[in-house]
Amino acid sequence: MIIDTPAVVMRTIPFSDNSLIVRCFTETQGKVTVMGKGVRRSKNPLSGMLEAPNILRLHYHFKESREIQILRDAEFHEDIMGLRRDYLRISLSHVMVDLLDRSIHPLDPQPILFRLIQQTLIALSKPEKPFRELFWFYLLHLGTQLGFKPGLDTCQRCNAILRSAHLDLESGTLHCPDCQPQARFRLEDESLRSLKEMTRIHLRDITPLHSSVETNRQITEYLIQHLGVHVEGIQNAPSLRVLKQLEPSDPDGDLQKSVNP
Ligand SMILES: [Zn+2]
Repeated sequence: MIIDTPAVVMRTIPFSDNSLIVRCFTETQGKVTVMGKGVRRSKNPLSGMLEAPNILRLHYHFKESREIQILRDAEFHEDIMGLRRDYLRISLSHVMVDLLDRSIHPLDPQPILFRLIQQTLIALSKPEKPFRELFWFYLLHLGTQLGFKPGLDTCQRCNAILRSAHLDLESGTLHCPDCQPQARFRLEDESLRSLKEMTRIHLRDITPLHSSVETNRQITEYLIQHLGVHVEGIQNAPSLRVLKQLEPSDPDGDLQKSVNP
């Protein structure tokens, strides 16, 4: 059977002398691995295309009994070349597809997640869109779509309205400072307010929040830790090293420790 589907390239691994194994998140089949035979030969136009996080239209031969499908052809589906003009944007896009790759199982189509990654990558490729807020939006909605929507309104122990919150690393839930006096990861009121705002707005309406350096750090740390509690392998993902550059002011080194223990 030939499958023809939009797909986001998540990871590419060289195979033998001139082939590539490509892990993709396809719109119609979810995570699929395809083999591009001979695509690394110098004149093959596919070699430059099969790179994370490109959004392609893929044509491949699919057999359910096979773990790796055979790529027939590909073309660009969306133009996100603007990403490559900015080191931080392209790095964040790699974090986004890497976390997605670690969170989903093969052949489990998730059209809402597909729209999320596709639309966030397109927005991130536009220099006028704020990269940090887009990254937060993506992490927040990735968690929600995976079934781990952060409970930002009330303490998960006593039900009090949260003005600031402490993350419980066992359950991944937020508690009020009375229920949990000590915590490595906190959200002060400004961070909590910004996060709640993020849950209410549409991707196209994201504008810079102009948060303080400390708020930026709290939100980024919290979102990564929240996902990490629920999805194995996220906290130690090598792609997260770029977050040191995103939030360089981290005075306690918590993010660094969690990224690079
Ligand atoms: Zn409480």
